[in-house]
Amino acid sequence: AKEAGRGGHCFFAPEMNQKLHERRALEIDLRLALANGSFRLAYQPQIRLDTGRITGAEALLRWERPDHGNISPDQFIPLAEETGLIGQIGAWAIKEACLQASRWAEPLSIAVNVSPVQFRQAGFYDVVVSALRCSGLSPERLELEITEGVLLNDTEDTLAILGRLRQLGIKIAMDDFGTGYSSLGYLQRFPFDKIKIDRSFVRNLGQDPNAAAIVNAVMGMSRALGVRANAEGVEFKTQADLLLSQGCDEVQGYFFAKPMPSEAFAGLIGMGLPV
Ligand code: C2E
Ligand code: CA
Ligand code: CA
Ligand code: CA
Repeated sequence: AKEAGRGGHCFFAPEMNQKLHERRALEIDLRLALANGSFRLAYQPQIRLDTGRITGAEALLRWERPDHGNISPDQFIPLAEETGLIGQIGAWAIKEACLQASRWAEPLSIAVNVSPVQFRQAGFYDVVVSALRCSGLSPERLELEITEGVLLNDTEDTLAILGRLRQLGIKIAMDDFGTGYSSLGYLQRFPFDKIKIDRSFVRNLGQDPNAAAIVNAVMGMSRALGVRANAEGVEFKTQADLLLSQGCDEVQGYFFAKPMPSEAFAGLIGMGLPV
């Protein structure tokens, strides 16, 4: 974005220069991190509400940026998408998650987030297949979390690729359910295995009767469609109790466990978590 200067000339405002400089620096650091293998995955346990046992984990990207400390994926994934780097970063995440899961003592599921840009890049399907092959992980244990953004364009191709992945036995989850414009429409168009009720709905459970009504409606729909439901961002026992009473299958959240390094998660497996 340029600003009109005096005499009709265009110039970059100093703060704009600064912004561009920061983006460029971030991009360089992202490339270095890829080359140096500096990304990590944190694993957040997913818990079956009725038994309190761990059913699997969601893998979440972690990056300690030199001189900046830990940066949230929400901060660097957008630029990784703009630059196309998300393809390589995401491919690494899928490979690494499958490899770690293949070493767990129990055949739990592993969920990996997939960016719409990553999904649309040529060769995405092959990346997934090769991750399964290299790790020896059974496809049934891999779950790909996609958002509405994946389904927005190229609908024919998109549905075809999703269908092929699903034919392998891979599970497809709709992430951030309820936050987009047409979550419901997509549910009708593609047979998801799981919907993840967004944290924004879970957050107000126990305070706001409207939140409870919405979650109740989503649960009723998931039952009717035969789709499993996961509620994310559960931070309080009252929320867990409400979700259990509404028949929610599975939860994730700080109340149960925060995302943790792979060794820590591997150590938890089999112990179950107190509810
Ligand atoms: P998401 O997929 O919706 O992941 C859930 C986010 O909520 C994670 O943030 C997780 O750490 C956080 N969270 C989990 N439980 C709680 C809770 O009880 N309370 C609160 N306040 N937060 C909770 P995180 O790890 O910072 O990830 C942010 C987003 O970055 C993710 O949102 C996802 O969209 C994206 N992301 C993370 N890893 C990957 C990846 O490997 N590939 C892609 N494409 N995106 C990723
Ligand atoms: Ca997710
Ligand atoms: Ca989510
Ligand atoms: Ca989210």
